[in-house]
Amino acid sequence: MEEAGERAGETISLWERTATKFRSAPLSENLTADVCVVGAGIAGVTTAYLLTREDRHVILVDDGPVGGGMTGRTTAHLVSALDDRYYEIEKILGEEGARLCAYSHTAAIDCIEAIVTEEKIECDFERLAGYLFLPSGGSVTELRRELDAAVRAGLGVERVDRVPIGKFDTKGVLRFPRQAQFHPLKYLNALSGAIIESGGHIFTGTRVVKIKDGNRTSIETSDGHTITARAAVVATNCPINDLLAIHSKQAPYVTYVIGLRVTCELEHALFWDTAQTAENEKQVLGPVPYHYVRFARVNCGRGRSQKRSGGRFRATFLKIGALGAPALSDAGRDYRSLVRTGDGAG
Ligand SMILES: Cc1cc2nc3c(=O)[nH]c(=O)nc-3n(C[C@H](O)[C@H](O)[C@H](O)COP(=O)(O)OP(=O)(O)OC[C@H]3O[C@@H](n4cnc5c(N)ncnc54)[C@H](O)[C@@H]3O)c2cc1C
Repeated sequence: MEEAGERAGETISLWERTATKFRSAPLSENLTADVCVVGAGIAGVTTAYLLTREDRHVILVDDGPVGGGMTGRTTAHLVSALDDRYYEIEKILGEEGARLCAYSHTAAIDCIEAIVTEEKIECDFERLAGYLFLPSGGSVTELRRELDAAVRAGLGVERVDRVPIGKFDTKGVLRFPRQAQFHPLKYLNALSGAIIESGGHIFTGTRVVKIKDGNRTSIETSDGHTITARAAVVATNCPINDLLAIHSKQAPYVTYVIGLRVTCELEHALFWDTAQTAENEKQVLGPVPYHYVRFARVNCGRGRSQKRSGGRFRATFLKIGALGAPALSDAGRDYRSLVRTGDGAG
């Protein structure tokens, strides 16, 4: 059963199986701080950690444990290859905007790597290449457009002949160098410890119900306590301080993740396809945004995102399992993870 604040699904992710989540006592008095960060996923924990390094007094609160939201249920690819596609981003934000997107994602991976090194965090952080490939019926033109746009955005992307998986053939592949992966809960646990060591405070099981702006910001909790701060950072993934602007644009998605044991030697890499535009896949499976694969030391995850209103989850798991088998032969299904998301994230 889900605990308070663990709002993301009935199943257990690989990360939740292989690490405990950081918990502390809930807030039980009124407090003051330089900055109050609401939400202890990767956004909130990173913000709180970086602020404590700048000698700010930080209070971080979450209504669940640390990492109990989406972060503990992602497949933890750290990428500058964006599933929105650079040629689409160029259309909306222009070439300079696309360059900024590439730069910011590259900088975010570099930042995590630097923190992992500096804090000596054992979180299976690994630099590796990512491969964007065409599924059956995928468009080579689309891949070429993405290559050109990604290069314009400043990424060292190149077209290669094949993905490094045995007999798996596809009509086109782009290779994105210097992507990364890690264990998100191990990483967040270590960062939480570092925040506390630097004088910050973390209160889990503490639900924020109101944030009032002003000279001093006041952050009110459901237990009737108030944190007064010079600034508040809302890092709740789905905003709690603006109930109309974002919520009215959000649609419910479900992402399915399946773990398979791989018994052959394979290069650790990240893999994504372009199934959202592949006609053959749509005919066989219905609307399919995309599939993605990564390897982990204890297991591997394969997921797909899909916009749905409910039901038929078991059937979808079976279809995804069947998809995994040809590419990763000798594989057995080890775990499943079903995640409700508001953003269709990958
Ligand atoms: C299956 C799946 C796979 C994904 N894979 C990737 C991936 O490989 N790479 C990637 O970059 N992204 C991926 N994503 C997207 C991912 O969700 C985000 O990148 C990232 O984890 C979001 O982090 P966050 O800190 O913003 O939110 P969250 O991790 O959701 O954290 C928000 C926190 O706010 C807390 N909170 C909410 N409301 C309140 C309140 N009122 N009071 C107190 N606390 C509150 C929640 O309890 C939660 O802990 C994936 C998503 C899913 C679902």
